[in-house]
Amino acid sequence: MTNWISIAIDAVYVVAVLIFILGLKALSSPETARRGIVYAGIAMLVAVAVTFFSFVDMNLALTIPVENLGLIFLGVALGGFGGYYWARVVKMTEMPQMVAMFNGMGGGAAAAIAAVELLSTLSDKVTGGLSVAGAIIGSISIAGSMIAFLKLQGWMPSKAIVLPARQFVNTGILIVGVACGVLLLVTSSLFWMLPFFVLLLAYGILLTIPIGGADMPVVISLFNALTGIAVALDGFALVNGPLGDAGYAMVIAGTLVGASGSLLTLLMAKAMNRSVGNVFFSAFGAVEETGVTMKGSMKPIEASDVAVMMAYANQVIIAPGYGMAVAQAQGKVKELADLLEAKGVTVKFAIHPVAGRMPGHMNVLLAEAGISYDKLFDRDEINAEFANTDVVLVIGANDVVNPAAHRQGSPLQGMPILDVELAKNVIVNKRGQGKGFAGIENDLFYRDNCHMLYGDAATAIGKLVTALKQS
Ligand code: NDP
Repeated sequence: MTNWISIAIDAVYVVAVLIFILGLKALSSPETARRGIVYAGIAMLVAVAVTFFSFVDMNLALTIPVENLGLIFLGVALGGFGGYYWARVVKMTEMPQMVAMFNGMGGGAAAAIAAVELLSTLSDKVTGGLSVAGAIIGSISIAGSMIAFLKLQGWMPSKAIVLPARQFVNTGILIVGVACGVLLLVTSSLFWMLPFFVLLLAYGILLTIPIGGADMPVVISLFNALTGIAVALDGFALVNGPLGDAGYAMVIAGTLVGASGSLLTLLMAKAMNRSVGNVFFSAFGAVEETGVTMKGSMKPIEASDVAVMMAYANQVIIAPGYGMAVAQAQGKVKELADLLEAKGVTVKFAIHPVAGRMPGHMNVLLAEAGISYDKLFDRDEINAEFANTDVVLVIGANDVVNPAAHRQGSPLQGMPILDVELAKNVIVNKRGQGKGFAGIENDLFYRDNCHMLYGDAATAIGKLVTALKQS
């Protein structure tokens, strides 16, 4: 291939990378996030499309066997249509499962690329070493992400499952797995390939099984970061081969994912008041709390009574959670906030970083409903205000408002929550007696200052809106 084709391909990769960076920047705010996704999609399309030009020479003759090209098109078609179809049909509330699944696919692709590199370049120890590293991280990432998917989908208990001698067995499997990778590299014998991959996949599964449901935000973010790192390592390995330029693009895209995923992991761990090591190695949430009985009863309240209570309040804080997302009640919530403000009530929104089922879930839904960003306050900003607030309306949230987090021995102990129980009146909207994602009973619902507005969030908030209009 003459230089000018190669230079043109490089230039297009640089453009793709710049669009990736713009996309990432736009993702940092809910208002521009949609644009960010579109940018990232375009960048990926450009990067994949330009890679095909690496397969032709100056006379436009193919430099790879035509059947390989057929296989590549088949892969792109299957992946493209599968991804498009799932993204179209997935419900907003099932998005985390889809993220876990797609992320796992990324890890799997990185492990597969590493395997192919290992088959063809075992004699080159640098490329081989990078491929082994990419394969280790990619395999752990796909296996762990699949377990996260099963837990989030409810096809596996979301609670921490603890196997006997877990730390010893897991560490042993990891050490022997990595040793097989080193032997593969040193001896150049493909005999070690199968045990290498099997053991690392097993490690990814065993690492994730003991993690309880409430810690899933940390898990998803970490595997996301690992996938990025695996892709970057594969990129370094590819740089030495015929697709060297594509390798550079993978290094940059992988590093962006690895870096942003690592930051998100730290943010999510901070939101749970835990270290990442503690999330992965302590089997938090495995032990059921015993001997705790709820005092009092859950007291129902009618929408008309809540409307009166709110209309006479100085300040109302709304704390949304997963149930608001399921019911897609954000439009009704916006209507409610507007009505209250028209009556002179100050309305604020309390946003817990892990409310819902994905980072930023509540921010995205409320922004979509047109609720101004300056009314949204995160946990640290709003917690001091609850004690001076007349009414807090909890909509479909449970774990993030569960005072059990302050109780010694509770599976939620230490998780920072929205301290809504300090408000003068707490109204909780949910459909019935369902527990939160972590499966822990919530004694907030039994407190004297708490009343239950039962029903699907969209219906219940709709009734509240109607009652307020009539009051
Ligand atoms: P929870 O899952 O703890 O509780 C949601 C509550 O909503 C349930 O108790 C349920 O009770 C109620 N509910 C369900 N459907 C409706 C509906 N249609 N209308 C009204 N209420 C409804 O939600 P939180 O947001 O409080 O907490 C999030 C949890 O998810 C945390 O444990 C977090 O760690 C975890 N998680 C978060 C992720 C993230 O990135 N944000 C990712 C993965 C997990 P009922 O059935 O009685 O209606």
